[in-house]
Amino acid sequence: MDRAASAGLVVCGVLLFVHLVWYIGGWGSETLQAYVTDGMYPPLALLFTLLGVRVVRSPGLDERSRRAWLFITASFACQLIAHTSWFIEDVFLHDTTYPSFADYWFLIFDPVIVVGLLLLPGQPRSRSDKIKLTLDALVVGASTFMVLWYLVLGPVLATAPVDGMAYSAALPVGDLMLVLALTTVLLRRTGVAADKAVLLLAGGIVTYVVADVYYGYIQLHAGFVGGTWPDLLWLFGCYLFALSAHRQRRQTLAIRTGRGRRVAVNWLPYGAIALAYGLLGLVARREGWYPFGGMIVGAVTLTFLVVVRQMYSLRENRDLAITDALTGLANRTLVTERLAQLTARPQRAGRCSAVLLIDLDRFKPINDSYGHEAGDAILRAVAAALRQVVRTGDTAGRLGGDEFAVIMPNLPNPAAALAIGERLLDALRTPVIFGDQLLAVEASIGVAIRDGSADSEQLLAHADTAMYHAKRSGRGRLQLYTADLDTRSRDAELRRAIANGELIVHYQPVVDLNDGHIVAVEALVRWAHPTRGLLMPDAFIDLAEEAGAIVPLGEWVLREACAQAVRWRDGVPALDALRLTVNLSPKQVTQPNLVQTITGILADTGYPAELLVLELTESVVLEPTPETVARLEALRERGVGLAVDDFGTGFSALSYLRQLPVNVLKVDRSFVTGIATDPQARQVADAVVRLGEAFGATVVAEGIETVEQAAALRAMGCRLGQGFYYHRPMDGDAVVDVAKAAASR
Ligand code: C2E
Ligand code: MG
Ligand code: MG
Repeated sequence: MDRAASAGLVVCGVLLFVHLVWYIGGWGSETLQAYVTDGMYPPLALLFTLLGVRVVRSPGLDERSRRAWLFITASFACQLIAHTSWFIEDVFLHDTTYPSFADYWFLIFDPVIVVGLLLLPGQPRSRSDKIKLTLDALVVGASTFMVLWYLVLGPVLATAPVDGMAYSAALPVGDLMLVLALTTVLLRRTGVAADKAVLLLAGGIVTYVVADVYYGYIQLHAGFVGGTWPDLLWLFGCYLFALSAHRQRRQTLAIRTGRGRRVAVNWLPYGAIALAYGLLGLVARREGWYPFGGMIVGAVTLTFLVVVRQMYSLRENRDLAITDALTGLANRTLVTERLAQLTARPQRAGRCSAVLLIDLDRFKPINDSYGHEAGDAILRAVAAALRQVVRTGDTAGRLGGDEFAVIMPNLPNPAAALAIGERLLDALRTPVIFGDQLLAVEASIGVAIRDGSADSEQLLAHADTAMYHAKRSGRGRLQLYTADLDTRSRDAELRRAIANGELIVHYQPVVDLNDGHIVAVEALVRWAHPTRGLLMPDAFIDLAEEAGAIVPLGEWVLREACAQAVRWRDGVPALDALRLTVNLSPKQVTQPNLVQTITGILADTGYPAELLVLELTESVVLEPTPETVARLEALRERGVGLAVDDFGTGFSALSYLRQLPVNVLKVDRSFVTGIATDPQARQVADAVVRLGEAFGATVVAEGIETVEQAAALRAMGCRLGQGFYYHRPMDGDAVVDVAKAAASR
């Protein structure tokens, strides 16, 4: 089918060309020329009608275009009927009635295709855009009217009523409608490839209108003879219709890519005005330069001045639309625009660009307690500070509220951005005088340096991440964005690390304080980061907890530690009764499948449940939900021990401890630290140890670093402990050696 269509187009194209050469060569009689021309139309019209039907029926077409093409194809069908009946009337019936049957179909063509054109999809527009578009189209329409009036319509109406005058007048009116509809299509069109079909259609319609006007003009002055230039133009117009339908079908089937971009066709109304004045000038020249010549010059000048005036106020409006009224800085619109411009250009070699995002600290309380005027004064002071640090070419803007941004497209290096940020921080520390008050604000600044891949939104998001980080780590600070500030990317990195086996588990022995005998080991995770070296849990556990990777991480640690402990038991009989304690994060505890996961791991590794102790942080213990309690009880029933880690730091609501099935309390290091030197610390530690005993739990002291601390703990009856004094966390192999050495003692 596609091949047939292409073949049809090629054949028709060749025929048209041969016909043109034949006509210009002047071969054949006038009658023959007219007949041949008449004969060319019906196949051409049949071709574009069939191609139109194919467009309407093509599967990939959107609904709106389908409706539009339905009308366009219907108008093509009108042409087919008109041309076919004209061929029969002219060649066979020699019927010269005017207007003939065919002529009415030519007329119907106009409104039908106008509807089709108006239905064609365009860019979504606002109300004011639509009004402007209508005005532009009317400008083009008015100048077209002048041309039509001068060439056809005026003379038709001026001559005495004759037969068919209504028809002769209707034809240019139809043309005017066509031009109006076509203008709106061109002004509305989207930037996507769909334009090609529309442009071909537009070309066809323009050719058609020109042919109509030419025909009308000849008809008025000399009488039209078939097969001459208007006919050739019509034929060419028809051919463009066929090409347009073919193109539309092809581009519908091709995958649409690329975003729509705005196509500025603003010159269209100006072109139309120029055309209208050109025509006036032409007429005036014929009429002699007085009186119209000077008047036309005046009118042209007037129009020119009005247009310039209009452009000037347009610029003024734009200035208003892109500045922040309060501070006079760029507003969010302009900042976004500049940022988009920045990221659209390639970076100049040896230079770099940066975005600073500035958010005031403690702005809201000032605004709330001193009023909005005070707030405004501060915002204006910030704007002044920004103006001091930016250089020409930079953009300083207010994004809204107390958030500002500076775009610096041309810096020698990233350090320059940081230096400017520091200067800004300093400048902002100067208090603002408001009445008899001194108002002090500070700002947190996030800095993002443009790297090749970041688009404008990403760049701003990076600066935002950095700013947020600056706020979190103490305010009044500057923070440069680096990928590892990004929770999401770090979370993804951590998940990859788990999958890639970058995590390792170290073990810290828990000993009997009386004889140093190892009773348990605590599994502590580490991350052998490919570039940052061995990372301790405090570098990644919080983030993992926040972003969710803690769940797979915790499962991995448990599985790994259990498997390791089984290997120890198999290799060293002395380690048979060694307990294993593993930290469980709050997020893991809330997982509905916690019990299945843990029993599954125990079953897979073959590690006995009675030897496993899970350490919960106090936050879990503090507010246990019924589900949590049920899960923990289920674990206890299976023999798994439960410990409260860092006991004492969370100001435990003791009543909850009674509800929970915990059997180990790990007294936090902070209670152990001063125990040997500070009597009060010793009393507190003593109380905590007693408390543990009162709950019937095994008490383990954490963070024992000195022999004195160990002695003090022993003295208060604490039996178990862990700390650097005894053993630092170590890898799995080292545990075996240490255990053997301890056993042989
Ligand atoms: P934690 O569970 O309280 O673990 C004890 C921490 O205290 C360990 O730090 C250990 O190295 C350290 N420590 C032990 N003895 C001493 C001492 O004498 N002096 C001092 N200054 N420190 C001592 P680490 O390995 O850096 O782990 C820190 C925290 O990270 C752990 O505190 C635990 O809350 C968490 N963590 C470690 N591994 C995991 C894990 O697999 N899952 C979860 N959810 N959290 C883990
Ligand atoms: Mg622990
Ligand atoms: Mg602890």
